[in-house]
Amino acid sequence: MNYKSTRGSCVCVPAARAVAQGICEDGGLFVPERFPALSREEFETMGRESYARRADRILSLFLTDFTREEIGECTAKAYAPELFQGGFPAPLVYPQGAPASFLELWHGPTCAFKDMALRLLPHLMTKSLEKIHAENGALILVATSGDTGKAALEGFRDVKGTRVLVFYPQDGVSPMQHRQMCTQEGANVSVCAVRGNFDDAQTGVKRMFADAELKRELAKSGWMFSSANSINWGRLVPQIVYYFSAYCDLVSAGRARFGEKINITVPTGNFGNILAAYYAMKMGLPVKRLICASNANNVLTEFLTTGVYDRNRRFYTTLSPSMDILVSSNLERLLYDLTGGDGERVAAWMLQLSRTGRYEVEADVKEKLHGVFYASCCGDAETRAEIRRMYEEYGYLCDPHTAVAAHAFRSFADETGEGTIPSVVVSTASPYKFAPGVLHALTGEKAERESEFEAVERLSRLTGVPVPAPIESLRKKPVRFCGSCGAEEMGRAVLAFAGTKD
Ligand SMILES: *Cc1c(COP(=O)(O)O)cnc(C)c1O
Repeated sequence: MNYKSTRGSCVCVPAARAVAQGICEDGGLFVPERFPALSREEFETMGRESYARRADRILSLFLTDFTREEIGECTAKAYAPELFQGGFPAPLVYPQGAPASFLELWHGPTCAFKDMALRLLPHLMTKSLEKIHAENGALILVATSGDTGKAALEGFRDVKGTRVLVFYPQDGVSPMQHRQMCTQEGANVSVCAVRGNFDDAQTGVKRMFADAELKRELAKSGWMFSSANSINWGRLVPQIVYYFSAYCDLVSAGRARFGEKINITVPTGNFGNILAAYYAMKMGLPVKRLICASNANNVLTEFLTTGVYDRNRRFYTTLSPSMDILVSSNLERLLYDLTGGDGERVAAWMLQLSRTGRYEVEADVKEKLHGVFYASCCGDAETRAEIRRMYEEYGYLCDPHTAVAAHAFRSFADETGEGTIPSVVVSTASPYKFAPGVLHALTGEKAERESEFEAVERLSRLTGVPVPAPIESLRKKPVRFCGSCGAEEMGRAVLAFAGTKD
């Protein structure tokens, strides 16, 4: 199976090249040339298997230049039960009385769903670099709205032949997310705050990937760029796995008949997670609706409803920072698919987006969007009310991102009456990553000048929900990184960090 660019240039590369490189030379994203179907027999067998085995089945359909043994080695390390609290990486939980089940993807080492892909990506990356006989090491640049940064740092820490530099928006991440990143251990990592928002950081990183001179400069000291953001195909394919896994578990629990269609609600930022659900559907997962949940940065709600993508709007810093995004990179992959692989059309929209901040898709694409997606958004006050409702009505403590999704699912159910079939809401982070906001939601009091750990302690005393060990252990770790730069200085930060490859 080969991979090509969403912007229509004629490159065609094997998976190893797509993973090692991260993004295509023409600025487009790598997509598989076709979508394999999972056979009914394989699908049914998956239900009796470990998470790592389930991942093997999906990955081997896409990474055809990897042997089954190589894939097995990668997944065994990535999804070892001891890395996940409770032992299973993607448990489906059924809060008593709730209208949907919750797919909890945050039991890994950094307490957010990014671990699901970023435990695996370093292993895929190392093997990919070997396969393409890369002479240079991989210098991985990450733009993060909070959770990808930590998961990438932890996943790649001390991985031979790689270095990771993370850029995060200076005032755009939660105090706990900040602490997780600035206390990161490992000899090959660094972290830098950008004076700007997430879109500034993401645009800066994409610009560097396209900067021929910078790349030449780095090659001299032994480095090539790669990406750990969801623009990298190696991030998306592991995310397809948990949708099949959840379906198997739903059937095993007697909550859906095999073959019955389900709804899936995803709290969305860069459109990676929900795109993986869409890809799962293309591979045969029985899906009725994909519900795209956004916070006050509701550019996707508008796009999926009207077909107009317009980033010329106010940027809000919200309670759910990992979704504070106005330019959702992976939407480009969806557009490519919905136009039947028309790279020229996609390239024209992306050019309009970079020039004017806006584009509009035509009726054919709009119709396809409406056939699959439903979109809804809510502000911080509604997010808090949802956190409280979930806790009081179902005894379920959730983080603000998950609450945005729960709210969207309720709007969907109320408006369409289609919420009665089996439905899954994706739960993307531990509430303890956002303890001050969650506490405020539950008690109605906003504490001033309380440290993030005081909030964690109060929240656990109030609810009795245990604090994840990785959060508890941050308390004693020293701060290693506190640098910052302007968006236009990111290139210089990269050169300084790269130094010479040892
Ligand atoms: C990254 C993230 C999201 C958004 O996921 P996308 O793949 O960017 O759409 C939602 N919730 C949390 C907690 C996240 O870390």
